Amino acid sequence: MIADRTPTLPRLGVRRVEALYKAPRPHWVGDGFRVSGYFSRDRDLVRTLSPFLLLDYHAPFAYPPTQNLRRGVGPHPHRGFETVSIAFEGSIAHHDSTGAGGIIRPGDVQWMTAGSGILHKEYHEESFAREGGRMHMLQLWVNLPAAHKMDAPGYQLLEAGAIPTVALAGGAGTVRVIAGEHAGVRGAARTHTPIDLFDVRLGAGACADFAFGAGHNTAILVLHGGLAFGDGHAAKTGDFVVLGHEGREVALEADADGAHVMIFSGEPIDEPIAQYGPFVMNTEAEIRQAVGDFGAGRFGELEE
Ligand code: MN
Repeated sequence: MIADRTPTLPRLGVRRVEALYKAPRPHWVGDGFRVSGYFSRDRDLVRTLSPFLLLDYHAPFAYPPTQNLRRGVGPHPHRGFETVSIAFEGSIAHHDSTGAGGIIRPGDVQWMTAGSGILHKEYHEESFAREGGRMHMLQLWVNLPAAHKMDAPGYQLLEAGAIPTVALAGGAGTVRVIAGEHAGVRGAARTHTPIDLFDVRLGAGACADFAFGAGHNTAILVLHGGLAFGDGHAAKTGDFVVLGHEGREVALEADADGAHVMIFSGEPIDEPIAQYGPFVMNTEAEIRQAVGDFGAGRFGELEE
């Protein structure tokens, strides 16, 4: 009898693991976010992961109660891309120069289009700060195509209840479809380029298959647990796995602890990138313009 699937003989069309990165040592963003920066423009990796520009992952970390209601990051600008903040535990308050503000609670996703420019601040939400507790979140930066870099800024607050959850076949687990599509279910977010963003939970020993667009850059962050891939590679809590481009399918198998993973997949944006900190444009002239506009106060006003 011949097994139809073994780790050493991946099925045709299954994507292989191209690289596996261990969790980088955490650093502080302001005084409220202890994050591991998995990739950003200053590392070669980002070239292979367009349209994604940066991933900061805040692994579970407990904060003591405080009377400091400014625990986090004060006013700072963004232009030319989008920030996607996903809260698993803990709550984050944000306010910006357009007068908008809100709270990102556990299960919520904030998809912010910085577009032509915004000033904002991100703090621990007041009651969360006073009581203290575990924060678990991530922030992903998504590039915008040239045609949308100077769009008016805006938000999509995708509350937990508005994000569709798909049950995997055979009771294997669940997929929250934040963006893109899985098993015919459309995600909650509007995106400017094709992106799949899935929050996946697999039960102990469960298997699941996913399919992504041909040529789309695809990577997986293991938030918790252990995972085996169709090509025999394995990953565990904190690992970041970049998949090759050959094939479309990704086969995942959780170990005895089950697994909680985020899957990022997107069509590359084939345009030049010029970046200076929180400004991501196509040319150096556009960066000089952004720095000038910021210096001249054209991003608006925002108090600490
Ligand atoms: Mn920000």
